[in-house]
Amino acid sequence: MNEVEIYNLKKYYPLREKLLSSSKRFVKALDDVSLTIRKGETYGLVGESGCGKTTLGKCLIHIIKPTGGKIIFEGTDLEKLNRSEMLKVRQRMQIVFQDPYSSLNPRMAVGSLLREPLIAHHLMNGKEADERVIEVLGMVGLKPFHAHRYPHEFSGGQRQRISIARALVMNPNFIVCDEPVSALDVSVQSQVLNLLVDLRKKMDLTYLFISHDLSVVRHISDRIGVMYLGKLVESAQDAELHQNKLHPYTQALFSVMPVPKVGAKKKRIVLEGELPSPVNVPPGCAFHVRCPKAMPVCSEQVPQLLEVSAGHYCACHLY
Ligand code: SF4
Repeated sequence: MNEVEIYNLKKYYPLREKLLSSSKRFVKALDDVSLTIRKGETYGLVGESGCGKTTLGKCLIHIIKPTGGKIIFEGTDLEKLNRSEMLKVRQRMQIVFQDPYSSLNPRMAVGSLLREPLIAHHLMNGKEADERVIEVLGMVGLKPFHAHRYPHEFSGGQRQRISIARALVMNPNFIVCDEPVSALDVSVQSQVLNLLVDLRKKMDLTYLFISHDLSVVRHISDRIGVMYLGKLVESAQDAELHQNKLHPYTQALFSVMPVPKVGAKKKRIVLEGELPSPVNVPPGCAFHVRCPKAMPVCSEQVPQLLEVSAGHYCACHLY
């Protein structure tokens, strides 16, 4: 069963042009992205900064409104909901941001931070909310007395645990984890990742896990999608993608992943040039200006995302 279905999702930002200019240009942060996330799975989304993965996560939970396309959450088309229906659905979809320093109000004690959405949505009275706060603090490995402390009194890892608790307090089914460990020390990253894995099992959660770091995404994901310049270019089960990476961009991403064996070596694929601007996306395959396998057709025709083998999708003229 699918928890989330996305069809042809687009997010275009109009550019401010010079006065009297008739041309209209857009930053295409997301361009025709379709994917599904199954109930209970972790779908990892990987790609360079600026490829549109965070925009996708924010569109999904309607922090930003998409320009076009359709999002179906638990069988409901989000576009068809009125404001109060959307508020109800949003309680079941939460987000954990990259930076716990800026996502938590420094003037509020942790207990008040966690209590706030329960009271605002009239879900619980004061006593019930206090009990729920203690419960979720325990779920993320914190103690009841931490409810009286302020965010600056915690370490980075503890602060991210509080952000996770804030997402959990509403008892969601689906969480967008947007680079949740990127701002943490490497030693703390695995603790937070393991906590997310445990919570998913215990609470039957579904995650969209966004990161620029392929090794982090592989650690936690069942399936992985690779994004490049606002498009999904490859998607498959983690093991399948590792064994059989098809898209030249995915091959380059895997080639720079550290090898866990001492002395083991592998050939790195160094991509030429920078990620092009999403304002001037190259014609045809947007990757053709950096692709070591580019052919004449690549600069003329946009490759479609096709199912190359069971459950393995790729957008490349080579397949
Ligand atoms: Fe490279 Fe062409 Fe495939 Fe794009 S379509 S990834 S340019 S081979």
